[in-house]
Amino acid sequence: TPPAQIRNFCIIAHIDHGKSTLADRMLQITGVVSDRDMRAQYLDRMDIERERGITIKSQAVRMPWSAGGETFALNMIDTPGHVDFTYEVSRSLAACEGAILLVDAAQGIEAQTLANLYLALENDLHIIPVLNKIDLPAADPEKFAKELASLIGGHPDDVLRVSGKTGVGVEDLLDRIVEQIPAPKGDPDAPARAMIFDSVYDSYRGVVTYVRMVDGKLEPRERIQMMSTRATHELLEIGVSSPEPIPTKGLGVGEVGYLITGVKDVRQSKVGDTVTTLRKPAEESLPGYTDPKPMVYSGLYPIDGSDYADLREALDKLKLSDASLVYEPETSVALGFGFRCGFLGLLHLEIITERLSREFGLDLITTAPSVIYEVTTDTGEKVTVTNPSEYPDGRVASVAEPVVKVAILLPKDYVGTVMELCQSRRGSLLGMEYFSEERVELRYNMPLGEIVFDFFDHLKSKTQGYASLDYEPAGQQTADLVKVDVLLQGDKVDAFSAIVHRDKAYAYGTLMTERLRKLIPRQNFEVPIQAAIGARIIARETIRALRKDVLAKCYGGDISRKRKLLEKQKEGKKRMKMVGRVEVPQEAFIAALSGD
Ligand code: GDP
Ligand code: MG
Repeated sequence: TPPAQIRNFCIIAHIDHGKSTLADRMLQITGVVSDRDMRAQYLDRMDIERERGITIKSQAVRMPWSAGGETFALNMIDTPGHVDFTYEVSRSLAACEGAILLVDAAQGIEAQTLANLYLALENDLHIIPVLNKIDLPAADPEKFAKELASLIGGHPDDVLRVSGKTGVGVEDLLDRIVEQIPAPKGDPDAPARAMIFDSVYDSYRGVVTYVRMVDGKLEPRERIQMMSTRATHELLEIGVSSPEPIPTKGLGVGEVGYLITGVKDVRQSKVGDTVTTLRKPAEESLPGYTDPKPMVYSGLYPIDGSDYADLREALDKLKLSDASLVYEPETSVALGFGFRCGFLGLLHLEIITERLSREFGLDLITTAPSVIYEVTTDTGEKVTVTNPSEYPDGRVASVAEPVVKVAILLPKDYVGTVMELCQSRRGSLLGMEYFSEERVELRYNMPLGEIVFDFFDHLKSKTQGYASLDYEPAGQQTADLVKVDVLLQGDKVDAFSAIVHRDKAYAYGTLMTERLRKLIPRQNFEVPIQAAIGARIIARETIRALRKDVLAKCYGGDISRKRKLLEKQKEGKKRMKMVGRVEVPQEAFIAALSGD
């Protein structure tokens, strides 16, 4: 297809504003999926993976659309909608010339609407504003058309109104894509340059790499080169998704498609990298390649220690399809053998732990998430701490913590409560803006460590679910942080150590000691539970001694009953962990860590 007849676009929306439903309707109206084969959320890969037990991920779909007597190829490129994946979002956007900004006509603009819009504008995309769900009785298109128009400029009448559910307005939208979104530009005679905007692992075909051709041409059987690593591969198959893969004779300027080279690991094919050919290599790669960096670390431990090898295997497998996942072995007194894992954010953590449990059947304990601290010691040495146990106790000169810029959108009635919450999390107000009479945006600088724990849950419960949140990294700041340890009979329980602000150390210490007193059964001797900063004890609870004689209960000589009781007690012991002399049921650790 010549570039003049190609349109590359994406849909950007806050979660639940109807992106998947609209995509379904477009597939149906353009005829690439027949009514008979249509099912809800056709492109939502994870669901399909679960249903069919195979991996098919189609990150870009090509749809034919006729307008003014010409047939166009519309390439719809999917973008992950969440802040954790900002880097991937921005790569997908870079593969497009335009974006549909989709907003729920009963809800209006939300935090992720804004975050994605800003990324789209940074990539110079043409924006088509669209209100969705106009079939809903609660829809107020007049009001939200004004809101949208004042956000991006333009007239409220130019905001399209559609329903992804009923299909109303979707044909107009397709026409408008052809009319307004610029055709791709590029040099067909230059050495090939293709940008990788996604790369997925397929158990049958190996890694499938999704590219947007910028210059030149790629053809099957050619040797291609990854510009960041100089690694070369033979191009076994090249094609387009519509939405099932269709092999083609090549991809030219402006086209979007997939490459298969037979490599087995997505790290060989990195999002943001530039593909060229070995025969006629490009000199300069396309702008914007960075390695995504983990922001949040957490320990993952199998509840049943014998699952350790399975956990390692499962992580190795997930890594094939998710280059941003990092992990290394770690041991804990309390939890045994596990892995320290790095994630892009909390949602990423949730997705990974959920996949470990769903797809691999693993029961895991996840330790409290920790951010990355840069510690300078009294001798001037720099230490990067992703786990409280690495904290150079007693030698700390200063600590820097990561800071994020937070944007919260909420109804104005909740502004007071939310400001209080943000202040209690050491936030400093950057600004406040009204989007309409009742919707307000609050912007804060906040330590990431104050958000990773349970900020989002608190935000939701304090606003009856009406607030939405987005954040982006904003550097580091030094802060008065300390490590709080928890000790059982004088022995440190590593899984409970935490790095917290000095003002919150006491609260953390009392919380953990009280929790553990309730969770740990009495022993034959007294057990002090303490919280400490270095050598200084800041909180203490005591579990009183108990002589636990199970046999005392059975007077009389029923031997078999006695034996049963003894066996039962032995069973119980198996799930106990020893911390020094103290026996702690595994459940107590899990309960104490599960928070709130
Ligand atoms: P996504 O998270 O943006 O992909 O949103 P979905 O497409 O999954 O839609 C979220 C919810 O809104 C689902 O329950 C849909 O059935 C519903 N929905 C989506 N589009 C429409 C629409 O046009 N009208 C109505 N009434 N509901 C819709
Ligand atoms: Mg969706």
